[in-house]
Amino acid sequence: MSPKAWRGLYVIGSYDRRITLYNQQVRALTLTRCLFNTGVLNKGAKVAVVGGGAAGMTCAIAAACAGAQVTLYETAPVLLPRQRPAAHRYLHPHIYDWPADNSRKDQAGLPLLDWTAGTADAVTKQLIQEFEKWKHLLSCELRLSHTVTYLEQIAGKPGDPLVRLRATGPMGALVNEEYHATIIAVGFEEDGAPQGSSTRIPGDNTFSYWVPDGLSHITGTRGTKQRVLISGTGDGGLIDLARACIADFKHDLMLEMIAGSPHAYRLAQEIAKIDLQTRTEQQRSVGTPTYLYSKYSALEFSQETLQLITQLPQSHTEVFLNYHGPSVFTLNSAIINRLIALMLIKSSRVSLVEGRVVRIDQPSGAKQVVFAHDDGKESVLPFDRIVLRHGQDGQYMERLFPKIHECCRELGGRLAELGIGGTIDQSTLDFFEQAKLNYPPDI
Ligand SMILES: Cc1cc2nc3c(=O)[nH]c(=O)nc-3n(C[C@H](O)[C@H](O)[C@H](O)COP(=O)(O)OP(=O)(O)OC[C@H]3O[C@@H](n4cnc5c(N)ncnc54)[C@H](O)[C@@H]3O)c2cc1C
Repeated sequence: MSPKAWRGLYVIGSYDRRITLYNQQVRALTLTRCLFNTGVLNKGAKVAVVGGGAAGMTCAIAAACAGAQVTLYETAPVLLPRQRPAAHRYLHPHIYDWPADNSRKDQAGLPLLDWTAGTADAVTKQLIQEFEKWKHLLSCELRLSHTVTYLEQIAGKPGDPLVRLRATGPMGALVNEEYHATIIAVGFEEDGAPQGSSTRIPGDNTFSYWVPDGLSHITGTRGTKQRVLISGTGDGGLIDLARACIADFKHDLMLEMIAGSPHAYRLAQEIAKIDLQTRTEQQRSVGTPTYLYSKYSALEFSQETLQLITQLPQSHTEVFLNYHGPSVFTLNSAIINRLIALMLIKSSRVSLVEGRVVRIDQPSGAKQVVFAHDDGKESVLPFDRIVLRHGQDGQYMERLFPKIHECCRELGGRLAELGIGGTIDQSTLDFFEQAKLNYPPDI
């Protein structure tokens, strides 16, 4: 998207809701193709890309492949700093679309920086290899340990640069450059509200989603099961729910087993129908609560389906899933994750706890989680381990670039509804296949 009143400035995905590595790459490729196809950018244009995650790397190589002179700024000393250490996380390009056709294909199928499903550290390696392979052939400069601190609109003659960028490099070195286009791909920060933020829940010490946390290897002491609370029913929370329940959890095997089962597939199709109907109802009657959980619970879970879960070894844990609002689930998570969670609940491996987590106290021994309820009352439950997966606080762009955020707010809120960034379209594939012909065939 391009913020209102800014020329030459674009933001990739920071205001969207449905965010995956693959979606962000699709957004990066589609935006770049559109900028060149419509003549907003031409060969030789100076382009800055801010952020060396999957979106920024893809955008930088795409723009350079289309003929731009690109500089990629990344604040960390390495590319993909978030996913790099995450050997405990599994990334699949399409599985969040299951039960849709082709969602089990493990190849992303992108014209540039393509990758195959794997652990996050392995996917990181593939992406960096692809990035390096292209970078040395193209006009693409990588500035690691450079934080972009300021962006400013400049008024010039047609064809002049439109954006002035300031960045701080190693040892405080200052960079001041002008670009025809600057593409912000700073992502979403770590999940959870940052330390010191007013929205951070007091007592919360949850690791970022990408930091190894040992949740799938919990062992009890002297026969006592560890009481684990997973709070939040987005994709992060639902995946951690399965990790906490199943001993030695293997995410890739779990996804393969569920997506490959005809019983689970039938249920997923029923869930997809309920979702579609719920979306239509929501559009008609704004503000009406959605009771997805009761609709899903009415579906028939056969013994064969539940056995997919019950045959797996149970962790030495007693697991609780916390949600807040009228329904356990929302439409914002992937069907496969909701189905796994439903199966865990139906197999009595998970208990539900309603309420908004407001505080975590630790007077001595177990942590006490304080939940607030809609009737104004509070309740307290003890847990040995607490994982809060409440998503990002949504204020990252505001903290980084307040003036730009001001201009993005209105359009940003509507982007999720437009469904941009789902899968790669044929025009974008064709555009980059053509652009790649300008480079040696051994690539
Ligand atoms: C809980 C959770 C679960 C997730 N699960 C999945 C999943 O299962 N599958 C999946 O595909 N995705 C998942 N995601 C989403 C995935 O993390 C994002 O889609 C992906 O990281 C987005 O890539 P990006 O390049 O847009 O942003 P990021 O990866 O956040 O990269 C942005 C980069 O910008 C840099 N940066 C920030 N500010 C500046 C600045 N001022 N100057 C220079 N550089 C800057 C940062 O250091 C960072 O490297 C999950 C996310 C969360 C939080």
